[in-house]
Amino acid sequence: MKVGVARERAPGERRVALVPEVLSKLTAAGLEVLVEAGAGAGAAIPDSAYVGAGAKLVKAAELYAGADVILRVQKPSKEEIDQLRKGQTVIGLLSPLIDPQTAAALADRGVTAISLDALPRTLSRAQGMDALSSQANVGGYKAVLIAATAFGRYFPLLTTAAGTAKPANVLVLGIGVAGLQAIGTARRLGAVVRAYDVRPETKEQAESLGAQFLVLKSVADASGSGGYARELTAEERAAQQQELNDHIGAMDVVITTAQVPGRRPPVLVTADAVKAMKSGSVIVDMAASALGGNCELSRVGETFTTDNGVTIIAPDNLPATMPAGASQFYARNISALLLHLVKDGALALDLGDEITAATVITRDGAIVQEATRKLVEPAPVAAGGTSA
Ligand code: NAD
Repeated sequence: MKVGVARERAPGERRVALVPEVLSKLTAAGLEVLVEAGAGAGAAIPDSAYVGAGAKLVKAAELYAGADVILRVQKPSKEEIDQLRKGQTVIGLLSPLIDPQTAAALADRGVTAISLDALPRTLSRAQGMDALSSQANVGGYKAVLIAATAFGRYFPLLTTAAGTAKPANVLVLGIGVAGLQAIGTARRLGAVVRAYDVRPETKEQAESLGAQFLVLKSVADASGSGGYARELTAEERAAQQQELNDHIGAMDVVITTAQVPGRRPPVLVTADAVKAMKSGSVIVDMAASALGGNCELSRVGETFTTDNGVTIIAPDNLPATMPAGASQFYARNISALLLHLVKDGALALDLGDEITAATVITRDGAIVQEATRKLVEPAPVAAGGTSA
């Protein structure tokens, strides 16, 4: 079976799906690896390194015509989908719940789509395949470095002949994978770190990394299913924002990572809270996307400073800004999933297996993952009425 590594073409994307170090595992499983010329360039991996590890270097046309399985980081564009053929398989972070139309286009083309972001993350045997975690880890680390660079003062307590610098006060909102990495990184830089999440079990995790956990009265517990948070009610949200405002004003740096699967990220830092912050403070909103962010004022992909001197940074793809490190982890995740799906050198999709059943989004010309299918199916027509 031929496995192809596509060059990512999305704007700003510098990661690559495989790095040369993981190739030996794939070739040992009887797979032939084709790499599109220049695929590793964004991550500073020369074509020669792939060839040295046993891959065949090909042009895009040969990759799309010859590969049985194409490995990618981001979902394919319309132009890339047009080059795919019936019976081929694409594996990547395809975001089917955010962009079900791409899944529909892949199904129409007869392509099997397998998405790493649909992995059941709480299964211990799936941990090595968990690309959401590995990339969130990179993001949490990088968010702190960006904040530290934008902040015009020291993070650590510093005593020098020229005087003493006070440590920075950093608040991390959302203590998932990215938040925990942000806490650890900010602590290693010497900041005083506070952290908050709506899932009570995160208190101990934050404290074990040296952060003080903020206990708010407004939301006692908003744990949802699968280790994720549930969406707050409108009343809870307003009370939470009000209570958080009192803390945010005292912070030098706020890093936000709060997400609720399939929903708009919650607004945790309101425009009023930003107004109450000191000049020179920095907000890095990791949750910002086209859907909105954790800070009411975030503009995704932009950095700007408010009239009262607060810098708001809303990066849109932090892992791509550390491409070699992010690709190294991603390559391990995607090759672990691929090897899980391969038997005797060929793809053998057993939908009775929990990992396979969760990650296969399209197959045999149809969307087979229920959550994605529901998003593209027309709304049912109510009896005696019209569909909404
Ligand atoms: P995520 O990116 O979905 O969200 C980040 C954090 O934001 C979460 O901790 C969430 O509770 C928090 N949040 C949501 N709404 C909030 C609000 N209104 N106020 C404050 N915080 C809010 O989360 P993630 O990093 O992908 O991790 C989600 C869960 O999955 C965690 O419990 C994590 O430990 C778990 N996980 C488990 C495994 C495993 O068991 N192997 C692997 C990876 C992740």
